[in-house]
Amino acid sequence: MAFELPKLTYDYNALEPHIDARTMEIHHSKHHQAYVTNLNNAIAGTDAEKLSIEDICKNISKYPMAVRNNGGGHYNHAMFWTIMAPNAGGEPTGDLASAINETFGSFSEFKTQFANAAATRFGSGWAWLIVKDGKLAVCSTPNQDNPLMDVAEVKGAPILGIDVWEHAYYLNYQNRRPDYVGAFWNVINWNQVAANFKAAK
Ligand code: MN
Repeated sequence: MAFELPKLTYDYNALEPHIDARTMEIHHSKHHQAYVTNLNNAIAGTDAEKLSIEDICKNISKYPMAVRNNGGGHYNHAMFWTIMAPNAGGEPTGDLASAINETFGSFSEFKTQFANAAATRFGSGWAWLIVKDGKLAVCSTPNQDNPLMDVAEVKGAPILGIDVWEHAYYLNYQNRRPDYVGAFWNVINWNQVAANFKAAK
């Protein structure tokens, strides 16, 4: 059973003006598709074909680099599309809001730490909000690694992530990664992040 490119639940232009349609189209239909295709090629005929992408990530040190790069690419992007939505943004509520306040002091301080993780990830990678030992934490990973991976510096269950590869923002923001990170707050689907939080705890 080969991995497949997930369909978006919104149109490529639905996140404008924060994320432009052309970036979304190339990012989803070209970049993510390539990770899926290359992952399927890398695991063809191996036992990994029977595993979930989560289980592959959790034991990623056992696999060749092509599985790490493309399996991570598939997991990360599949999550990324779901934690964004049109007419979204704002602030989380309920248990997630309480946990953010407990861990970071305030939503504002969480935003500062998350944006800093995104800004300071040198080169290509991701910044994350994770559940680690039942608590929230912010971290970042290089390339297409993620905190599920047994090779990750900080391990946990990702509940929110931002892609800071240049392909995620360069058409609209060029070298201004902080502007892209600033715009990202307007498209976060907090209902999905809250569901991820509930599932991860
Ligand atoms: Mn990407």
